[in-house]
Amino acid sequence: MRSAQPSCPARLAGHVLVIVLALIGTLCVAAPETTDQLLQRADQIKLANNDEFQILLKQLDAETEQLSPTQHDWLDYLHAWQLGYLGEYPQALSAFDILLARTQDATVRARARISLIYDQVNSTHFEDAYTSLNLLLDSLPQIDDRNAHLLILASAAYLYDNAGQYDLAMNYTDQALAYDSSDRPTCIAIEQKAEVLSHSGKLRVDDAQISSGIATCERSGDSFNANAIRRALAQAQFDHDDVAGALKLLKAHDAEVVSTHSSTTISQFHALLARCYLLTGDLARAREYARSAIDYANKQPYAKSVADAYDVLYQVAKRQGDDKDALANHEKYAAADKGYLNDTSARTLAYQMVNQQVLDKKRQIDALSEKNRTLQLTQQVAAQSSENRLLYIALLVSILAIVTTWAYRTKRSQLKFKKLARRDGLTGIFNRQHFFESAQAALRYGAKDAREASVLAMDLDHFKSINDMHGHAAGDAVLKRVVAACQTHLRAVDLFGRLGGEEFAILMPDCAEAVAAKRADEMRAAIAGMPGNGDAADVVVTASFGIATTRVCGYNLPTLLANADHALYAAKHAGRNRVAAFQGIPVHDSASASAAADA
Ligand code: GH3
Ligand code: MG
Ligand code: MG
Repeated sequence: MRSAQPSCPARLAGHVLVIVLALIGTLCVAAPETTDQLLQRADQIKLANNDEFQILLKQLDAETEQLSPTQHDWLDYLHAWQLGYLGEYPQALSAFDILLARTQDATVRARARISLIYDQVNSTHFEDAYTSLNLLLDSLPQIDDRNAHLLILASAAYLYDNAGQYDLAMNYTDQALAYDSSDRPTCIAIEQKAEVLSHSGKLRVDDAQISSGIATCERSGDSFNANAIRRALAQAQFDHDDVAGALKLLKAHDAEVVSTHSSTTISQFHALLARCYLLTGDLARAREYARSAIDYANKQPYAKSVADAYDVLYQVAKRQGDDKDALANHEKYAAADKGYLNDTSARTLAYQMVNQQVLDKKRQIDALSEKNRTLQLTQQVAAQSSENRLLYIALLVSILAIVTTWAYRTKRSQLKFKKLARRDGLTGIFNRQHFFESAQAALRYGAKDAREASVLAMDLDHFKSINDMHGHAAGDAVLKRVVAACQTHLRAVDLFGRLGGEEFAILMPDCAEAVAAKRADEMRAAIAGMPGNGDAADVVVTASFGIATTRVCGYNLPTLLANADHALYAAKHAGRNRVAAFQGIPVHDSASASAAADA
């Protein structure tokens, strides 16, 4: 019996089929992507897979000769975007400027302006960012691309979020959320919403919409934004004392975040990890992550993550009893924190200035139309006989009055903003930035004649439990009463500032240490003897004080504050509700002092 082999023609047909299939396969696999497809893919994956994005950029660069003008514009757009992503802001800003001056394509123009807003905000060019946003909004009718519309809403939310205008920012994220319910836009909108809630202190750990954003982002392949949401949630856990939860979430995604190369994101992630490790007592890891947060943020020396990281390094050194290292890190912390706060008030001021410019324009227009009306009247008057001369004079006077009122109102609102920018909103005393500026000026002045001044650091005792037991509003009321109690013991020349939370500083010019100690003790007694009232009728409030004098520490403010802080720490340690003067080895060393002065 013959074996059951296929007959010859059947075998031939089988071979032909195999060859045809192989050919189709080869054609399918090898069909090269068109340039447009390559550009589109690069644009889509730039966040999700930045390594592959960079490979695509190189591939596209090799084809520059064959690109159409619009394709060329898109390629330049992607290059400029990558510069911003890596934190190379000056280069990114000028690359976008060149592209915007050249491109004829409305969508490229819009996308470039959107990305430019992020880079302008990150490099603290706030007024420019507002201008970009206004130009974008003006150009909306010419843009058909839905994706660009969504990104405009998200960039507006980002700008207002960073300017501290949270209601406006939330309004834009809600518009973005309502715009398109598919995964990718929803992921972008929820991430932005998480940032706004986090910055305004309103992010709840169990916020279901925000948590669902992680899965939405992962589904659309966007692990970058998924991890940004995780960071915001971990921050909320940290703020609500769930350090273990925050640590678990951050650790699980640390490697993934590092692989994104986004310096800003990695720095923020690591600063938070450092703070978690500090609280769990793992000082070695706390220091390692704090250093990494500083390294990654090298393009933004005044980022909040840098200030937080130096604070961690300071706390670590303090706990290990390394005074010299603690002081050096405290000075760097003070410089970074001051820079960051300068940034923050620059953001708010830029917003106020733009608002004011709009108001000014409106007033100018009002004044102009008023002027127009009076001019018409003038012409009528001129046509009448000379008995109307009186009316004419009255008209001139009214024009003058309008112009003067306009100038007066403008000046008055400018002065109001200036004053607001210097004061702490709750207690009305100097805010941190203004305290630093005034105290540094006073110390420079005193240093000329070697006049002795003292610096006091004050921190309320167990203030957290007052908040926990009686609520935040009662805590706020206590802060106001404490400030009022202290003010009755201060001279007009003393400078009183709120450095943050329940921490205060006082500079007493022309005041020796012993006198400062006496006055600090009077303030301490006044606080401890404050009668309770309102929500906090039975609250007992006490405060601890630390003193440092120029006689021992020199005239450098960060050094003085760091030493006063050391003394304060000792007062807390000794049982609180007391005053301690700086006892340590004088840690004023000229090298670090002059470095801080330079900063
Ligand atoms: P210690 O005696 O060691 O200083 O204990 P503490 O509880 O005062 O220390 P800690 O610095 O840990 O807590 C400060 C608390 O101050 C944390 C925060 O809840 C509260 N706080 C910070 N800023 C404000 C504010 O503006 N208003 C209110 N009501 N509370 C604030
Ligand atoms: Mg306290
Ligand atoms: Mg405190």
